[in-house]
Amino acid sequence: MIRTQVQPTHVLIPPGDHLQPTHVSIPPRNHQQIPEFNLQLKEQECLSLLKRCKNMEEFKQAHAQILKCGLFWNSFCASNLVATCALSVWGSMGYACSIFHRICEPGTFEFNTMIRGHVQDMNYEEALVVYADMLERGIEPDNFTFPALLKACALLRALEEGMQIHGQILKLRLHDDLYVQNSLINLYGKCKKIESSFAVFKNMDQKSVSTWSAIIAAKASLGLWYECLMLYGDMNSLGFWRPEESILVNVVCACAHLGALHLGKCAHGSLLRNISSLNVIVHTSLINMYAKCGAVQEAVGLFKKTADKNQLSYSATISGLAMHGRGREALELLSEMLREGLKPDDVTYVGVLSACSHCGLVDEGLQVFEQMKSDEVEPTIQHYGCMVDLLGRAGLLVEAYNLISNMPMKPNDIVWRSLLSTCKVHQNLEIGEIAANELLQSNSKNPGDYLLLSYMYARTRRWEDVSRVRTELAEKGIYQAPGFSSVEVQRKIYRFFSQDAKCPHYDGICDMIHQMEWQLKFEGYVPDTSQVLLNVQEEEKRQRLRGHSQKLAIAFALLNSSGGSPIRITRNLRMCSDCHTYTKYISSIYEREITVRDRNRFHHFRDGTCSCNDFWLLA
Ligand SMILES: [Zn+2]
Ligand SMILES: [Zn+2]
Repeated sequence: MIRTQVQPTHVLIPPGDHLQPTHVSIPPRNHQQIPEFNLQLKEQECLSLLKRCKNMEEFKQAHAQILKCGLFWNSFCASNLVATCALSVWGSMGYACSIFHRICEPGTFEFNTMIRGHVQDMNYEEALVVYADMLERGIEPDNFTFPALLKACALLRALEEGMQIHGQILKLRLHDDLYVQNSLINLYGKCKKIESSFAVFKNMDQKSVSTWSAIIAAKASLGLWYECLMLYGDMNSLGFWRPEESILVNVVCACAHLGALHLGKCAHGSLLRNISSLNVIVHTSLINMYAKCGAVQEAVGLFKKTADKNQLSYSATISGLAMHGRGREALELLSEMLREGLKPDDVTYVGVLSACSHCGLVDEGLQVFEQMKSDEVEPTIQHYGCMVDLLGRAGLLVEAYNLISNMPMKPNDIVWRSLLSTCKVHQNLEIGEIAANELLQSNSKNPGDYLLLSYMYARTRRWEDVSRVRTELAEKGIYQAPGFSSVEVQRKIYRFFSQDAKCPHYDGICDMIHQMEWQLKFEGYVPDTSQVLLNVQEEEKRQRLRGHSQKLAIAFALLNSSGGSPIRITRNLRMCSDCHTYTKYISSIYEREITVRDRNRFHHFRDGTCSCNDFWLLA
């Protein structure tokens, strides 16, 4: 006789805790009597029952049904039961665990499900525990095991465990699997092992969008922006991929750091073409990119178009305005933000205060500083740094020094350096010496500190002190990091190091510099050799000045871009006053708009003047 219904043979225990298993899974004695076709029918029923579940309540009912039909002993049904409970958005890992533990002989699929479930549940350690259990029971992992497991290691920054797993992957010969490789790139990237990340990437025969996304993200997380853009270029030249949002956001970020406006615009275009609506995070990174690439008008325009402006988009725009010396607008934006009922945070206030200091808005800055405290935003050392800068630039050096003395925290090098450089500008040797001594005693490795002090001694003709400071600098073996300037020409970024005769195109650049100098001399330019702190002949000093990276970059851009087009340069160190004067002349002789970004701000050169009004280079 064929039985249409399998009688339940299990005992149902009333649930004490809803996450506790409510079943005891004893296989029905007569299960072997179920004919094949009927079993398949049951399996299908079980599957569709599970597929229909929309919450834990329905799932528990389905679970009960499956137990009642005696289908739990069927491994197909049991594994679907675990997978549904572990991986559904409404699922419960606690409940999934209890079902999993009732399975007599869980296989690779069930273990994989549990690992994935734990990772999804952000319980990364547990995922590793399940994996260890899997190995202990002699269950062989497969290519589905590793992506989730490596993700857990990446998020835990568990490099050692990750490397052990990589070893197992090699043993199991699964290292050619695309998903496994992508996960390895991501793991090493997150653990800041970029060489290992790149080694996996290089050895891949086949790559997907996720591969590129993983390697670009790895480079971005380490601030290797230049390489990010190179990889993005390679990806595009290989063709057939639609870049995804995560890649483009990293590219936009890289463009912001490198000042690569043209590429940034292209990435913006790609975003608009490929993603239906840009969220506020993407918008904010674009605002940041435009501001940092010198296109502050575009940044403001984009900000105005942002639908749900939040604190982040306001902060990005305010800092952008600050960098471009547009302090009044930054203050207006702060008022607007407050009117909108948004709460400025410490980052917003850093932006506003630095805007005030870049524009010499002393009273406004002091007012904002007070307002911030009454808004219960605790001033950090960064805010104090901005205030010291603000007061110092305005020549209120005693007030700046008093502020430092009364700070609730220990002043750091940045604060002292800010005081020292404003002392240089306003030629206050007395306070300058105090600041410099603080810096030198804190074992500063910054050659700029020594140089600022020796400039100040030189100005007051205290030559013995000049040589004492220089000797100290030499004895400590401190070197200035090589200065470089990047310029975007024909959609590519070129980087020039100071005095680098080995750079490509060097001969052409030298000829151009020679030609430029003739015209500069004619216009009345005199090289400011006091910028060269070397005890060498005047002609050698001139030669050194000629080799400053900014000049190499300008010459290259003039040679390789069409007349009248703007030139945008980004540099790692502060501009020297000779390069500043030189660039002013060039902007009028060659009728080019030249934008230079240094560590803190922008200089827009046009018709022989600069937007900073030489405020930075008074000394
Ligand atoms: Zn220079
Ligand atoms: Zn300037």
